[in-house]
Amino acid sequence: MFVVMARTAGEAEIIGVKSAILGEGLTPYDHAGAERTVIAVIGEIGARKADLMSRLGGLPGVESVTPISRPFKLTSREFHPEDTVIRALDAVVGDGSLTVMAGPCSVESRDQLFQTADAVAEAGATILRGGAFKPRTSPYSFQGLGVEALRDLAEARDRTGLPVITEVMEPNQVDIVAEYADILQVGTRNMQNFSLLMAVGRVARPVMLKRGFSATVEEWLMAAEYIISSGNPNVILCERGIRTFETYTRNTLDLSAVPLLRQLTHLPVIVDPSHATGKRALVAPLAIGGVAVGADGVMVEVHPNPDAALSDAEQQLTFDQFRSMMAQIVLVHDQVRGLRDAPREAALALGNGDGQGRH
Ligand code: PEP
Ligand code: MN
Repeated sequence: MFVVMARTAGEAEIIGVKSAILGEGLTPYDHAGAERTVIAVIGEIGARKADLMSRLGGLPGVESVTPISRPFKLTSREFHPEDTVIRALDAVVGDGSLTVMAGPCSVESRDQLFQTADAVAEAGATILRGGAFKPRTSPYSFQGLGVEALRDLAEARDRTGLPVITEVMEPNQVDIVAEYADILQVGTRNMQNFSLLMAVGRVARPVMLKRGFSATVEEWLMAAEYIISSGNPNVILCERGIRTFETYTRNTLDLSAVPLLRQLTHLPVIVDPSHATGKRALVAPLAIGGVAVGADGVMVEVHPNPDAALSDAEQQLTFDQFRSMMAQIVLVHDQVRGLRDAPREAALALGNGDGQGRH
């Protein structure tokens, strides 16, 4: 549930409500909206619900108490109607502008990274990506250059001015990655690594949470809930494809998740057509599709010589292919940005869906 404070409520009344929540053994999480403060009540409420709602509703400065019908609370649009806007250096994600995260799958050398960083920056990317710690299916595959790659990424940021995003795989890597990177990425294989989610929830860096390749939208939002409830509200969601029976593509990009998430959550949504398809020729069409259905941007892999890449060779774009994709998605984004508010209005119409798709 969440407590909506009156517009006129002052600091003392807000503190009064928070203390009452703490006194129940629950955790208050406040969100200062443009007009008023809303305080979410987090924890196991159980049978106390009706009683608690009436007690909190009677406190000074409280306008109303509303139950949150879904299991995800802090990520829900019910609690936080305005879009979350995330900033990293000069990049802004979630404000209606087009975010383009681009760079190699893995940082392979300083030279490979710098060449790619210069090319994607020049073509209009807003954030530089590059893997330092690589979660590889095979222990015999290239595992990434680790801290050396983090240093190269930081230098590439100084060179281009682009903020840097890179994956963190374990709780004990969080501090070092946060020291060099501007945005931390939690990969698909770690979406439900709860100790990692809590660890990235405790640092002052935005986090991009990729969807687990077998996760439902609700499980994904519950994972984001771990990060936010640990103290970090700056979460970006990334749809990167889910596993289906189809084998011609690496995964299946769930484009329906994008407009669905716009209704369910206030968090920005990015689409990754590189890992979703695993095929270079499909990356631009699905980047266009992602932007067309309202994503805040895309993440794509780019390499100076994709065929020679040490990881994900088949899906990385050449510089020319990246430039041509950019030209296309910018056009599509210009066309759809005016429609941006429409899906959110439809949130009212979505009601309390039970998440059970019908066959
Ligand atoms: C990546 O973006 O480098 C990556 C490994 O992606 P995913 O976790 O989606 O497979
Ligand atoms: Mn990759």
